[in-house]
Amino acid sequence: MNTPLTQADRDQLERRLHARHEALSAHIQAQLQGRTRAEHAREVLLQDGDDAPQRSADREVDFAMTDLETVELAALDAALRRLADGDYGRCAGCGTDIPLARLQAEPQAALCIGCQSAREQGRPHAASL
Ligand SMILES: [Zn+2]
Repeated sequence: MNTPLTQADRDQLERRLHARHEALSAHIQAQLQGRTRAEHAREVLLQDGDDAPQRSADREVDFAMTDLETVELAALDAALRRLADGDYGRCAGCGTDIPLARLQAEPQAALCIGCQSAREQGRPHAASL
């Protein structure tokens, strides 16, 4: 059996959620600004020739990273909302308490391990977010 979170656990996890949220927001912001600069540089690079394909591949990676970070940011937002609502730490799938160890590893987790893996196996990767 899992025990509900203590207030101290909750406070600690909330601080981590806020810290991660701030760091991630700042990083995504920086990425978006970098992307704008990359757009400006693009035509110069195309005329440049040789290493343009490699740079283009690097940009693809940047896009993918930012997408992942955007998804994580949304999960952090949702976790902070659940904290405010008093639902935090309860599995959104089956309603059991999510073990503290799991929340410490992933403070934004909305599902217990069982529901998480069921969801990952049962549903194709969501293409639109
Ligand atoms: Zn569950």
